[in-house]
Amino acid sequence: MRSLYANGWVVTMDDAATEHPHGWVLVEEGVIVSVGGGAEPEGRDDVERIDLGGAVVTPGLVNTHHHLCQTLTRARAQQADLFTWLRELYPMWARLDAEAEYAAARTGLAELALSGCSTAFDHHYVFPRGRDGLVEAEVQAARELGVRIVASRGSMDLGVSDGGLPPDDLVEDLDAIVADTERLYAELHEPGPGARVQIAIAPCSPFSVTRRLMEESASLARRLGLPLHTHLAETVEEEEYCRELYGCTPAEYLDGLGWLSDDVWCAHCVHLSPSEVRRFAETGTGVAHCPTSNLRLGAGIAPVRNFVDAGCRVGLGVDGSASNERSDLFAEVKQALLVARGRGGPDAMTARDALRLATRGGAAVLGREDIGALEPGRQADLAVWAVDGLELGGAEDRVAGLVFAGPHRVERLVVGGEDVVRSGALVRAEEAEIARAHRTQARRFA
Ligand SMILES: [Zn+2]
Repeated sequence: MRSLYANGWVVTMDDAATEHPHGWVLVEEGVIVSVGGGAEPEGRDDVERIDLGGAVVTPGLVNTHHHLCQTLTRARAQQADLFTWLRELYPMWARLDAEAEYAAARTGLAELALSGCSTAFDHHYVFPRGRDGLVEAEVQAARELGVRIVASRGSMDLGVSDGGLPPDDLVEDLDAIVADTERLYAELHEPGPGARVQIAIAPCSPFSVTRRLMEESASLARRLGLPLHTHLAETVEEEEYCRELYGCTPAEYLDGLGWLSDDVWCAHCVHLSPSEVRRFAETGTGVAHCPTSNLRLGAGIAPVRNFVDAGCRVGLGVDGSASNERSDLFAEVKQALLVARGRGGPDAMTARDALRLATRGGAAVLGREDIGALEPGRQADLAVWAVDGLELGGAEDRVAGLVFAGPHRVERLVVGGEDVVRSGALVRAEEAEIARAHRTQARRFA
């Protein structure tokens, strides 16, 4: 059976940035067969025609940085910088178990799906001793809702008594981290195009991870062929910490560890010098830009225009729900545009540039060539955006109108040819039930 998504404004995000204002997308077995504008493909008995009524169709959005568990601890440490915020939250996160993680992941992933996100990366690095099944709980939530997940086996092994930031009881032993990462890879990782579940390796940050664990993580990732991720250069305090401990900036520290490479992407990168931006471009290192979180914590504004101009891979991230209380990726599209203009003026980013970061850019950051664009051979991950509501009246350019007027609840989200959201509602789960179950768990973190 084939599906023809017809009568849409199709934003392909291909290399030429092709758009079809009167376009269609033909899908078979979860994969895009052809995309075009004007006359539709010849009618055949085995084609289901789905009329989109002039809606805008984009690739499903790709989130490149999150901590789903943080939905349990929103609106805490409200006026704090990163280190103060972390010190207040670590003890709460120490209560995490699989039941709470499952409720948190369902909430965060449902929010993401309703904002048009079809693939989500989660940077999970809190593994309280004796609590099993945390990554598995996230993966289960993603499978049930129908979205793709890249789940990381994150880690922290530098406790406060060794000069790190996290409490000693929240850090793990290096050998246990490596063994658990290998186990999750063997049990969960799907290689190749169309993967619904993948594993990444993601030690937390320079101030919570030893040099040795950074090195071991990189060699394990390269042995298994997995992507590598960490937080980097988020705040000025982090830079001061690195200079004191390692005698260099965070980016120089990573470079010295062999971490600047095309299999790596880093979250934030707010405080990078022009030469460090060039170094990211030379080495193919990717960036997860998280503008709302950076503003919420008063961390600064990343030089995204410079990253894009230098040729870096750049995607967007909502970041954890304790530093951006919304897991709305379309909101980040607009936020990325606004902060780029706040920093560099009205030419600093177009609406289409911002949308590209959240789709093609995010896919490139995750090392995925099977998603992020509407092109033959790629996965049928489609976000359909209604344009007949109040907020888009008068916007002849529907694509720019969509970004400027964001955020929006997606009308329909298709992942691998299957509906995940239809008429603005989750297809495979009930939103109200997810919210209720989440509140029951969140009370344990009060
Ligand atoms: Zn983060």
